[in-house]
Amino acid sequence: MVSILKRLNSTLRTQLFINNQWVNSKSQQTFKTINPATEEVIAEVQQANEEDVDIAVKAARKALEKGVWSRLSGRERGELLYSLSKLISANFEELAALEVMDSGKPISDIRNGDLPFTIDTYKYNAGLANNIKGKSIPISGPFTCYTRYEPVGVCAQIIPWNYPILMQAWKMAPALAAGCTLILKPAEQTPLSALKLGELIIKAGFPPGVVNILPGFGDAGKALTLHPEVDKIAFTGSTEVGLEVQKNAGTNGLKRVTLECGGKSPHIIFDDCDLENAVSCAHFGAFGNMGQNCVAGSRVYVHSKIYKKFIDKTIEAAKARKIGDPMDPETQHGPQVDKAQMEKILGYIEKGKSEGAKLVLGGNRWGDKGYFVEPTIFIDVKDKMTIAKEEIFGPVMSILKFKDIDDVIERANNSPYGLGAGVQTQDIDKALKVTNGIRTGSVYVNCYDLEIENVPFGGYKQSGVGRELGEEGLYNYLEAKTVLLKNVNEMI
Ligand code: NAD
Repeated sequence: MVSILKRLNSTLRTQLFINNQWVNSKSQQTFKTINPATEEVIAEVQQANEEDVDIAVKAARKALEKGVWSRLSGRERGELLYSLSKLISANFEELAALEVMDSGKPISDIRNGDLPFTIDTYKYNAGLANNIKGKSIPISGPFTCYTRYEPVGVCAQIIPWNYPILMQAWKMAPALAAGCTLILKPAEQTPLSALKLGELIIKAGFPPGVVNILPGFGDAGKALTLHPEVDKIAFTGSTEVGLEVQKNAGTNGLKRVTLECGGKSPHIIFDDCDLENAVSCAHFGAFGNMGQNCVAGSRVYVHSKIYKKFIDKTIEAAKARKIGDPMDPETQHGPQVDKAQMEKILGYIEKGKSEGAKLVLGGNRWGDKGYFVEPTIFIDVKDKMTIAKEEIFGPVMSILKFKDIDDVIERANNSPYGLGAGVQTQDIDKALKVTNGIRTGSVYVNCYDLEIENVPFGGYKQSGVGRELGEEGLYNYLEAKTVLLKNVNEMI
C-alpha cells in the first residue's frame, strides 16, 4: 500500500496541523495507525493531548478575533471552499488510496461515493456562503427590525472512522461557509486523510488558525468539549460518547452542541413491493460499508406473505457479495475498521445464536489476515433479542416477520434510536402511513440510505441533536442577531 502512495508521489502527514503548520505533540507521544486489511502498521501519528488542544483552540480563537476569516465576504469564503473542492478533485486518487489503507473501505465505494460526496459538500457550502441572509421583520411602532447571521465562533468537531473524509467535509464545509474557525479531531483509527487535507488547506490559501487538525484519542476530544474558549461542538459517534459530550459541553460555559449518534434503523418490506428492488435496498442497507453505517437498516421487517421468498433472494444476494482486498476495484466488502470492532461484531453474532435467532448465512471471521467478517443473516429474530435492539455496526442483518401495518409501525418505533427507516411498497397510502408514523430523521421509500449534500440529515431521540447537510446544517454554525432601530424622526 505504501508503494501506491510512493507512486502517487504522496507524503504521509503524521503531525498535528495547527496554525497552518505541522508540529509534534507537546508530549511527543505517538500512536500507530493500522491497515485493517493487512494488520500492518501504516504510520506512527503524533498524538494530541490537552496541552495541544489548548494551543489549537487559542490559534482558532485568535484567527476568529482577528476576523481573517469571519470578516471576509461570503463570496470570498465561498471561493476558498470551492478551491478546496478543486484540490480534493486534483488529489482524488491519492486521497482514495489513503482512505482505503487507513479504513479498509473498498476503493470503489470511495471513488463512487465518499470522495464525490465530499467534493459536492464543499461545493454546495461554497455556494451557501454567499447566501446567508437575515430577515426584515415588520413590527409595531416607529421601529425597524432585522436579523443578521454571524458565525457562532470557535468550533470543535469530533468525527468517527466510518466515513473519515466525508465526515470531515460534513463538519468543516458548513462551519467554514459560516465564517467559523475550527479544530477537527479525526478518529484515532483513521487520521490520515484528515491530515492530508491540512496540506490542501494551505494550498487553497486559508489563513493560519482557521482550520486546525488534531489526531488523537477520546481524551483530546474530551479536552475540546471542556475547553472554555470553544463556542460550539459538533460530534459524530456513539450515543454513549454523545451523551458525555453533551454533559461536558455544559461544564465550562454553555456551548452549542450538535450530535450525530447511533441507530438501529427498521426497514419494512411489504408484500406488494417490487421484490428485486426491496432485496437490493435491504442488502445495501445492511451490508453497505460492511454495516458500519449509523443509518444501517439492520432490523428488516418482512411481511409474512413474502417472508420465505425474500429470505431466499436475500441469502442469494449476500452470497454473491465479493469480499477481499479493498484496493481491488471489484471488491464490495472489505474488513471492519479494527480488531475491537471485529470482535464486538462476532460477540453479537454469538449472542444472536444463543438467544435463539436462526443463523442462515455467514457468522464467522473471513480469512485469517485482516479484520473481515462475513455478511451474516439471522431469520426468525424477535424484537426482544439483543441483535434486534442494539447497534452492531457490522454486516449483520436481522430479519423479523410481520403481518399488520399498525403493529409493524409500533414495533419499528419501539427503539431508543430514531435515525433512519426504510419502507418498500408500491402502495402510496401504506408508504405515507409509515413515513408519517415513524419517528426518525429520514425515511427512505423504495430506496435506502440516500444522503445528499443539500438534504438535511440527523436523528430523533437518542440518535442525535440537530441536522447536518442542507441549509439546516449551515445554520448550526450561525447565531441570529436581532437588530432593533428606533426611527426617531418618524411619526407613525
Ligand atoms: P466513539 O463515539 O467512541 O468515537 C467517536 C469520536 O469521538 C472519536 O473521534 C473519538 O476519539 C471521540 N471520543 C471518544 N471519547 C470521547 C469523549 N469522552 N469526548 C469527546 N470525544 C470522544 O465511537 P467509536 O469508538 O469510533 O465507535 C463506537 C461505536 O460508535 C460504534 O460501534 C457505533 O456504535 C458508533 N458509531 C456511530 C457512528 C455514526 O456515524 N453515528 C460512527 C462511528 C461509530
